[in-house]
Amino acid sequence: MATDALKNVRVRIEKAAQNLGSKIVPDWMLEELVEPEERFSISINVKVPNPANPLEKIPKKFKAVRVWHRKPDPADIWKGGLRFHPDVTLSNMESHAIEMSIKSWIMQLPHGGAKGGVAIDPYNWPKDTLEDVTLQFAKRAIKRGIMSPRIDVMAPDVGTTKVIMDWIRDYYIDYTGDNIIGEGVVTGKSIDKGGILGRESATGLGMHLALQTFCNAGEIKLPKKKTAIVQGFGNVGSNFCALADEYNISVIGVADQFGGVYCPKGLDINKMSEFTSAKTNKYKTINGFESVSPAYMKVSFDELMTIGADIFVPAAMEGVVTAGVASVMNFKVMAEGANGPTFAEADEILNQRGIEVVPDIYANAGGVIVSYFEWARNTRKFHDNPGIYIPENNETSVKTALQAIFKENGLALIKTAKKYNIPYREAGYALAIERVSPYIKARNRMD
Ligand code: NAD
Repeated sequence: MATDALKNVRVRIEKAAQNLGSKIVPDWMLEELVEPEERFSISINVKVPNPANPLEKIPKKFKAVRVWHRKPDPADIWKGGLRFHPDVTLSNMESHAIEMSIKSWIMQLPHGGAKGGVAIDPYNWPKDTLEDVTLQFAKRAIKRGIMSPRIDVMAPDVGTTKVIMDWIRDYYIDYTGDNIIGEGVVTGKSIDKGGILGRESATGLGMHLALQTFCNAGEIKLPKKKTAIVQGFGNVGSNFCALADEYNISVIGVADQFGGVYCPKGLDINKMSEFTSAKTNKYKTINGFESVSPAYMKVSFDELMTIGADIFVPAAMEGVVTAGVASVMNFKVMAEGANGPTFAEADEILNQRGIEVVPDIYANAGGVIVSYFEWARNTRKFHDNPGIYIPENNETSVKTALQAIFKENGLALIKTAKKYNIPYREAGYALAIERVSPYIKARNRMD
């Protein structure tokens, strides 16, 4: 049965097909686009500490899945995050895999979308267990021939980090002996393991570059000094907040699943990062941060939605902007850091209320773009995609290259929105599918 998230994505693809017409998206192609190409589902067996006797280990199973959407060309790879979260299921990952394709095609990256993960709460298990789970997953995926720098390249997502990517990279090279391009098996690695400078902050930075492109093009009108409220303070949320000052944005509210904090004069983001990364803060939560200053107030996510600001950045999980939230939220713009945070019904309400949405499929693409740079460097594929310059491994070059990609494709997205007189999300889907259509026809010998 299709999840709400998958239904959302399907509605959006169908709308894009209607806008583009059957010459560009014939029925057979529409059928392909709304379905993943392949799915992989396994049980991982590891030994974990026995809660009743920590000296003893007992067997435990974790479910692991991976979903692949459509590759435009046989020479492309699949690319998408690896998530460690209790809600990971095959059906939940399907919509994300499709969204990853759309994102890659908007940004002209030679990828099919993928997504997967393990149904585990990483904050509730010791490092040894996480390593065992990661390596079991890698072993099974390599044995099936689906984890490789030539086939499917994973990256950090919710609950995973560069440490986990490094484990997979080391294991893959050891297991296969591929010390030539083996490093490219995953992206988002540490620098000394073949990572690229700027990958960790790339999604947060990309969010600012997306907003900047829309503001400079006159599509979004915001004051010079802006305020923002952010949901989620993990990789995406914390990096967006850390860079906000540079882009004249004051972060006045942040919430996660445990609580929220608000200060109309702006929150101290450095202090918030210290607070969340403290060893004693098991869940890396911002809950309790209000105690740091008398000017800070404890608030709920719902309260933050009605307090409002210029910009709202959902940077946590999917499905947070329901029709109810969209009816009351008090923002000029929503820039989506999370994948799939908004329901289709909510989109209509935001549209009617004049709240502009810079959609996930464009706004949060910074991570996959810099991951592409990392993979292209690891596999020496510098010239395969003449449209994209692969930068040097330094933050300035990476930022310049990222900026150029956001600008070029953001302007194309805006042009598509004007051409069909449709909101930006619909325009993103239309642009992606228009761009990929000739490749899908060629792959199916239907051109
Ligand atoms: P993360 O695990 O680093 O952080 C997740 C954050 O969300 C944490 O602050 C956590 O406390 C919070 N959170 C978790 N469940 C929540 C809930 N139910 N309600 C409120 N807050 C909750 O993950 P991340 O890498 O920052 O990813 C966040 C989102 O951005 C995801 O949707 C992910 O798919 C998307 N994304 C990530 C990247 C990347 O490069 N990491 C790139 C593109 C998109």
